[in-house]
Formats: sequence, C-alpha cells, structure tokens
Amino acid sequence: MDELLIEGPLTELANRFGNITPHIRYPETEDEVAMILQEANKNGKKLAIVSGGTKLGYGGIKPNYDFTLSLKKLTGIVEHTAGDMTVTVKPGTTMQNLQQFLKQHNQMVPLDPAHSSASTIGGVVSANESGPKRLKYGAARDHVIGMRIVYPDGKIIRTGGKVVKNVAGYDMNKLFIGAMGTLGVITEITLKLRPLPKHSSTVTLSVQEDALNDLKSFIIRIQDSTIEPVSLELINPTLSKSLFHKDEYHLIIALEDVKKAVLFQEDWIDENKPTEAMMNVLEQPEDFWTRFNELTPNSQNDFHDTTSGVMKVGTANMGVFPLLQECDRLNLEGNVQILAHAGVGHGLSTIIVSGQPENVVQWIRYIQAFSEEYGGYGIVKHLPFELREQLEVWGQQKGSFSLMRGIKQKIDPKNTLNEQRFIGGI
Ligand SMILES: Cc1cc2nc3c(=O)[nH]c(=O)nc-3n(C[C@H](O)[C@H](O)[C@H](O)COP(=O)(O)OP(=O)(O)OC[C@H]3O[C@@H](n4cnc5c(N)ncnc54)[C@H](O)[C@@H]3O)c2cc1C
Repeated sequence: MDELLIEGPLTELANRFGNITPHIRYPETEDEVAMILQEANKNGKKLAIVSGGTKLGYGGIKPNYDFTLSLKKLTGIVEHTAGDMTVTVKPGTTMQNLQQFLKQHNQMVPLDPAHSSASTIGGVVSANESGPKRLKYGAARDHVIGMRIVYPDGKIIRTGGKVVKNVAGYDMNKLFIGAMGTLGVITEITLKLRPLPKHSSTVTLSVQEDALNDLKSFIIRIQDSTIEPVSLELINPTLSKSLFHKDEYHLIIALEDVKKAVLFQEDWIDENKPTEAMMNVLEQPEDFWTRFNELTPNSQNDFHDTTSGVMKVGTANMGVFPLLQECDRLNLEGNVQILAHAGVGHGLSTIIVSGQPENVVQWIRYIQAFSEEYGGYGIVKHLPFELREQLEVWGQQKGSFSLMRGIKQKIDPKNTLNEQRFIGGI
C-alpha cells in the first residue's frame, strides 16, 4: 500500500504546484482509507488528498503536508443497475473508463469534464465540475444520489442512497460535493444515468465583433424557442484562431436527440441565425470536443517555460460578452495571450492566461476585479504555487464564509484533510 517516491517528477510536481508530497500512500480498500485517516488524525498528521492529480494547481496555500493519500488504486464499478439508470463506482475511476463501461449499455453520466483520461469521478465530484454540456444536464452535484465517505477521524458514513428518490432529511451529498476534499474522503459514488443520445451534431456560427449584438438577440431567440441546445459556448477570436483558423467570435451549439429532431434544430438555426453569421455543421464533432476538452493546461502536463493560469469566471449570462471582449482587448496589450470560452446559457467562462509570470498574475487580478464589477467572481483553477500565494485564488469571500469555517471546524477540528486548500484558507 505504501510507496515512498523521492525521484524527480513527483518532487518537481510538489515544488511547482504544491497540494502533493513525495510520500504517497495508495489504499486499495475503504477500510485502508479509514485506517490511514484514523492513525493520522490520532497523531495530528496533515494529509493532502489526490486522485487523478490534474488539479494540483487549484486552491491551496499550504507549502507542505506530512504525506499524501491517493485514491488512484480505489477504482472500478461496484454496481450497475441498467433498469434503474444508476451506477455505483469507486472514486479513483477515470471519467473515460466510467463512460466507456456505460457506453456498452447505451448509457452515460451526463458530464463532460476536461482531461477525461486523467480526471477521476472522485475529483470531478469533489470539485463539482461541469463541462459545456452543463447547459442541459447541470453539474456533478445534479447527478450524485449517494456516497460513502470516510470522516477525518476514520469513521465511515453514507450520504443519500442508491435510488433516485432519496431519503428525507438534509441533503448531505451536497455538503461534500465541491468541498475539495476538506471534509471527508469519498470512497464510493452512486450516480443517476441518462441514455446515450440517438443522434448528435455540433453547429458553429461565426461573426465579427460588430455583429455581437445580433448574436446576443439570436441567443435570446434560441432560449425562447423549442430548440434545446446541450451547450451554447461562445469562443473569443484568439481561441477561434487556434481551433478554426478564423479570427472571429464563434458560437458552438451542440445538439443531442433523435435524428429528425436534431435536423429540425439545425434548420431552425439556419433560418434564424444573424444575417452576418457564417454557419457550419462540424463533420467530426467528437474530434472537436476531444480537442476542446484538452484546451486547459493541468498539473499533469504543464511544465512549459511560459506560465499559464486558468480561471473560472462566473457572471450573468449576457455578462460573458463584455468579459470575452475585454479578454480580446487585453490580447492587444501584447504581454499575455488570453484564450477564452464561455457558457452563454449559464454564465461560466474559462479563461487561460499565458505569458511571463508577473504579467499572468497582473491580468488574472485585473480579470477578477472586472468580473466582480459585473457582480460576478473570478476563481483561479490552475497556477503554480508561488504565484497562487500572490493572489486571492478563490476571489472575494462570500457572506456565508463563517458558516463554512464552522462546518470545517466541526467535522475536521484537527485539520487532518487538505488544510488551507479551500476558500479563505479553510
Ligand atoms: C485547469 C483545469 C480546468 C478544468 N476545467 C474543467 C471544467 O471547466 N469543467 C470540467 O468538467 N472539468 C474541468 N477540469 C477537469 C476535471 O474536472 C478536473 O480536473 C477534476 O475536478 C479533477 O479530477 P482529478 O481526479 O484529477 O482530481 P484531483 O486533482 O486529484 O483532485 C481535485 C480535488 O478533489 C479532491 N479529491 C479528489 N478525490 C477525492 C475523494 N475521493 N474524496 C475527497 N476529495 C477528493 C482533491 O483533494 C482535490 O482537492 C479542469 C481541469 C483543470 C486542470
């Protein structure tokens, strides 16, 4: 179970991003997890919790931990009930392996996280992640119906259940989803499933900046119509250049349904699109989405000379337009490159800022202030440790912060788990 890895890569990873140590323990069962936590808690040890390890650059200002607990060996399907549309899975299972298993049964977990070959279901749920399909299907917390969790003192609890209609009482699932491993270690997750779509297509509309208002009116029309896009992703010209070799704004519309309904929706888009817009139906949509989901650097592959920071920015739906326009204006400033895409239907944007470290920090801080001006927020999802120390990586603290800190102190009074990983240094 134990592995003491002192060779270069891991130490380099720990030095560059933090949130991991060269000494890693790999439990293979829930009981082993419980034993490790009980022992660490009793001896006042501080643990870093890691699964796929793609998000070491996300949150966390603590320079070091006593050791790391990895869920990498807690993998596999525990139970799959095709008729009930539910699956129970161990947390270290990658999203790719989970979806490939379900595909054999014409089912899926309606989540499309980035880096699916490395990201695990435990990491996606602990960060409450969601990709472009969030518009139709929601985020991780909308698909979890039950979990098994080991508390910092080693006690094992169950939240929710194994059936879609859950038991009465506080929805304890929600407490641990998005908690970034600060309240307990998830050892099992039960999810509700959806059937694989019969047919899907991806339509792109491209316009110049002076036609953005027409694109906005088109988006309001599509949201008022019977058309049901799975995602509505706006892409800034700088990112469009690398994806489509065209220096224009692109709106990416994904459709999933029976073939007749998808073709009807494509025709509707063609008839209602802004006059200046160029429409295209992608021939290889899977290839496009695979490239799209690998856009952001992650802590497993970001060892380049230039520094890259990734932000998650939340604004009102239409607030994504001024945000992406501002990002493109900053590209003209010339000392950073900003790639940006935004979910028009849910107001969540992903901003990748690359350049010299000091410029990356300067413009991340600027974009945080810009989004707060629009009543939104800016969180840093990926950045080397020494640069994270210079920023409020979780953005401005919200009113409920004292309640959050109270919950952490109640559940993990000794700060055994992921100390200082979360908002406000929780
Ligand atoms: C920069 C960046 C941006 C991304 N953006 C998106 C996006 O917009 N949408 C999307 O869907 N996906 C996105 N992803 C991909 C993916 O969803 C995440 O990487 C995922 O959250 C992390 O998976 P992981 O297994 O690598 O987790 P890790 O990086 O290992 O862990 C992530 C967090 O979860 C905790 N954790 C992990 N497993 C457990 C467990 N079993 N119990 C308790 N805590 C646990 C860790 O302590 C850590 O705090 C992004 C990834 C990166 C790097």
